[in-house]
Amino acid sequence: MPGDRTTDVLVIGAGPAGSMTAKWAAKHGAEVLMIEKRQEIGSPVRCGEGMSKEWLRDVGITPGRWVNVEVEGARIFSPNETVFEINEKHAGNEVGYVVERDGFDKQLAIDAANAGAEIELKTAATGILKENGRVVGARVKQFGETFDIRAKVTVGADGFESQVGRWAGLPTNLQLRDMDTCLQYRMTNVDSDVRYCDFYLGQVAPGGYVWVFPKGDRLANVGIGVQVSQIRTMAEAKNYLDRWIDKHPAYAKGKKIDMVGGGVSISKPLARTVMDGLMLVGDAARMIDPLTGGGIANGCIAGKICGEVAAHAVEIGDASESVLSAYEKGWRAKLEEKLYRNWLAKEKLVTLSDATFDKIIDALSGLKLEKLSVHNILKAVHAKYPEVTKEFEAFL
Ligand SMILES: Cc1cc2nc3c(=O)[nH]c(=O)nc-3n(C[C@H](O)[C@H](O)[C@H](O)COP(=O)(O)OP(=O)(O)OC[C@H]3O[C@@H](n4cnc5c(N)ncnc54)[C@H](O)[C@@H]3O)c2cc1C
Repeated sequence: MPGDRTTDVLVIGAGPAGSMTAKWAAKHGAEVLMIEKRQEIGSPVRCGEGMSKEWLRDVGITPGRWVNVEVEGARIFSPNETVFEINEKHAGNEVGYVVERDGFDKQLAIDAANAGAEIELKTAATGILKENGRVVGARVKQFGETFDIRAKVTVGADGFESQVGRWAGLPTNLQLRDMDTCLQYRMTNVDSDVRYCDFYLGQVAPGGYVWVFPKGDRLANVGIGVQVSQIRTMAEAKNYLDRWIDKHPAYAKGKKIDMVGGGVSISKPLARTVMDGLMLVGDAARMIDPLTGGGIANGCIAGKICGEVAAHAVEIGDASESVLSAYEKGWRAKLEEKLYRNWLAKEKLVTLSDATFDKIIDALSGLKLEKLSVHNILKAVHAKYPEVTKEFEAFL
């Protein structure tokens, strides 16, 4: 590069989903080029850095130096700060490890490179190349020069603000109610409990929550996600977070050492993630868990399938939608039911008053549920506050 060129598989975006796609496509014999618009993979970090861990082995990721802290579980705080503790296995996509996200993303890119993928930095896709309705690569810009990369398979792994899907004509638009805006401080001199990732629900963060993910050595990520339809400006999200910190002595005396902002989708899964010559993966395919906002695990799980299907398409010389739909079927089989269920639960939770949250957490607090299903939770709540479960009849 630069100059027009061709490759088997072009991956646009070197986040976790892109690197996993690149690695698995290369491992299965495809020539892979992954482009990243930033100059450094993984940086700046826009993440709470919490992730579950049981999926890592399945997709071939070995925990490394990027693990900061291994937590025992999550604590969910109601508005009146009653606590419900959940062990790590049941706590969802963001609980297990707290990581150095830039180190994690770099490790996945190294794995992709070691599998044979080529990586180009500071190289941004600026459009899609289409011929007779099929995607055949992308137009890219690198250091002011524009050129075309033609590919048998193109993968949009370009994150929450993805344009690849839209350029190609796939409906990826989000409503305001389907997005959370997030703001997070990394704070030092705080007294967080390193055994838990903490989540604070209710009007402290309308339509979302405040999180505290411990990083060890009195460091923690303290952040907030607020449903975009419930605020008017980004400044409001910051005000909510600052107010929450001021009210909590363990954090009010802490010092902020960096700040990150960004968006997460809290939508239903996309109806369609493939077309002739193109697949979307990770945040670009709206694979974030709409209940927790965690997207690393789902992006990696889908990335592996995406890479394998891309390599197969190259091998048989057919990247039509019908061949690539093996990816669509594969990721849906692994992720869709939970994404849909959690979307339904989130739709309900964003409507609840603080008083209702207080009752739900009060009913659960102290319980050791063997299986953390919606049914078991509602049964426990029903035993103490039957009037609350009326709101949830659709879930039973
Ligand atoms: C504040 C915040 C906190 C979060 N906390 C957590 C958490 O604790 N746990 C969790 O699991 N998830 C969390 N998430 C979500 C998580 O960060 C994402 O789900 C995850 O990064 C998705 O990976 P991805 O590879 O799909 O996209 P990304 O990681 O966003 O990677 C996309 C890449 O594509 C590149 N790119 C974009 N456009 C182009 C282009 N045109 N050309 C070339 N490259 C391009 C970008 O620079 C980026 O490197 C959080 C999100 C935010 C905003």
